[in-house]
Amino acid sequence: MGRPEIKVFEFKLFQRFPDLVHGVFSRSGGVSSNCFDSLNVGLSSGDDPVCVEENRRRILARMGTQKAVFLNQVHGTNIHVLKQENREEPIIADGVVTDMQEISLVIQVADCQGVLLFDHEKKVIANVHSGWRGSVQNIIGNCIDVMTTRFKCQPGNIRAGISPSLGPCCAEFINYRDEIPKAFWTYKLPGKLYFDFWKMSCDQMLDKGLKKDNIETMDICTQCNADKFYSYRQEKKTGRFACVISLKN
Ligand SMILES: [Zn+2]
Repeated sequence: MGRPEIKVFEFKLFQRFPDLVHGVFSRSGGVSSNCFDSLNVGLSSGDDPVCVEENRRRILARMGTQKAVFLNQVHGTNIHVLKQENREEPIIADGVVTDMQEISLVIQVADCQGVLLFDHEKKVIANVHSGWRGSVQNIIGNCIDVMTTRFKCQPGNIRAGISPSLGPCCAEFINYRDEIPKAFWTYKLPGKLYFDFWKMSCDQMLDKGLKKDNIETMDICTQCNADKFYSYRQEKKTGRFACVISLKN
């Protein structure tokens, strides 16, 4: 039996920058088993930590960096500004921005969006975890604000990629009247209980001044493609796949 290889998905928008390395890692090529099969990077859903460590090591090897930053993601809006290595304490945040090189910024998801951001002029990268709670709090807009205020990025120079995540085909919110603020009901599909969070994220970025052509959605729904990506809605007990971005020296 052949061992499945690591399979990385990339954004076309980022591919022409030699100083940028990024990837959305699918389930393939790891050592976890059963519902975590196989490249799970999440430690909080019950997988063997030894397997998760090995999976994380493989991803770093593929990224070509020695170091990585994993966040303690809490569905909030806090954006961590990474200015120096701080391995001591866990970073509680749902987004991270840096201009440091040779460090992989990792977001872990299973239906939520990983949103990768890159300013090629200022050489600044960011990675955001935006589930529906993050989306209705506009964590993506918050991250772009941090990039412009703390790193002097121009929104017109920022490129963004939205990872595989819950698509409008599957993002059903039966209790949307209680869960989704009314301002976002325009993203509900007419006559249905499904929401288009991909469009919501695009609009939030356009509102901050990003150019339409600089936003790329992979258009891959995780629930429809649970064989390739972890999907919480599809499987409940499952792993997390990695969305990763780093700057080369
Ligand atoms: Zn779907």
